[in-house]
Amino acid sequence: MPDQHQIFEVFSDENASGVAYKNKALKRSLINFLDQGGNNTITELSRELNISVPKTTSLVNELMEDGLLKDYGKVDSTGGRRASMYGLISEACFFVGVDVKLYHINLGLLDFTKQLVTITEKVPYKLENTQESLNQLLNIIRGFIADLPVDVSKVLSIGINLSGRISNTTGYSYSYFHFQEEPLSLIIQREIGIKTFLENDSKAMAYGEFCCGEVHNEKNVLFVNMDYGIGLGILIDGKVYYGKSGFSGEFGHIPFFNNEIICYCGKKGCLETEASGASLIRNIKQRIEQGSTSTVLRKNKQADDITLLDIIHAAKNEDMLCIELLADIGEKIGRGLAMLINIFNPELLILGGTLSETGDYLRLPIRSAINKYSLSLVNSDTQLKLSKLGEKAGVMGSCLIARNKTLSI
Ligand SMILES: [Zn+2]
Repeated sequence: MPDQHQIFEVFSDENASGVAYKNKALKRSLINFLDQGGNNTITELSRELNISVPKTTSLVNELMEDGLLKDYGKVDSTGGRRASMYGLISEACFFVGVDVKLYHINLGLLDFTKQLVTITEKVPYKLENTQESLNQLLNIIRGFIADLPVDVSKVLSIGINLSGRISNTTGYSYSYFHFQEEPLSLIIQREIGIKTFLENDSKAMAYGEFCCGEVHNEKNVLFVNMDYGIGLGILIDGKVYYGKSGFSGEFGHIPFFNNEIICYCGKKGCLETEASGASLIRNIKQRIEQGSTSTVLRKNKQADDITLLDIIHAAKNEDMLCIELLADIGEKIGRGLAMLINIFNPELLILGGTLSETGDYLRLPIRSAINKYSLSLVNSDTQLKLSKLGEKAGVMGSCLIARNKTLSI
């Protein structure tokens, strides 16, 4: 058994100088090449990395000693000689993903070869901007890690998705838990004892969908996160678009309506004030107060306790009020998306987030509004699809982001 410390060594940025640093960088390049291109031979690796065959052999041997690579057997190479194929070992190391929603948390574990080992969905939680809420989040992460089916020392990093303004380079969260001078990622890292990265929830979900969801060869894609708020992930020329400081995609806070409704961001008339899960809940409460009936109030549920999951459940069971009000916000979201289509001319627009679970009840009014409000020549290039990963998009995204950042050179 290799010493766990050795495995960490290749991914650690400490003691990185001179020859040791160069070797570490080459090893990470080698791992990244195997990660993207699949198993390969020493000859190919040496050509790709532009280093000698003996040097490549020695690096591969060291990585095998570390327990990260193994020899997957021989294949016929072009010259007829049989060459060994080397590849990553799936159980060599792991990455935890934590997707924090407003009323629940999803957590997952990804292995070295990007397979989801385990996922725990919908752990009850209330995201509030308080120290108690942060403590509760830390406890949920600790609980998940304590129950993992793998050795905790093999977990190299954690990715956490939070809503609002996040700087994924500095690890600062500005909308939630900004209580101290220190970046939130460092505070969590110290509490949990594992390297931690933060990402905005919509960007992480979009990344999950881009890597292993509905995106195949498309390079210009928009991913809409329809939840209590409304967020956006942007893929341009195959890369996630961050903007100057990482705050791109604040689609929900464009001043879309001339209303007096104060958004949680503090401004009035944001798209979110009338086209989001939060506005859907507000509308349903209002209609119930005015005397409408709905199965959303089953099992002694009070109007004040209605959640998005209740509404989704009721809509799937053909509750007329929920379906009608979903169509109403769908039309407004569609108008917003029509504007995005005119600006970005994307080849694919993915509807994701909790509300996408309502399927056609939301997709059809969105489609209809897009046709109505965007330029037909522009929207005819855009396919509209529902997220393939659904609720798992955030967990996949956070695991993959943690893994990428750990493996990057
Ligand atoms: Zn706003």
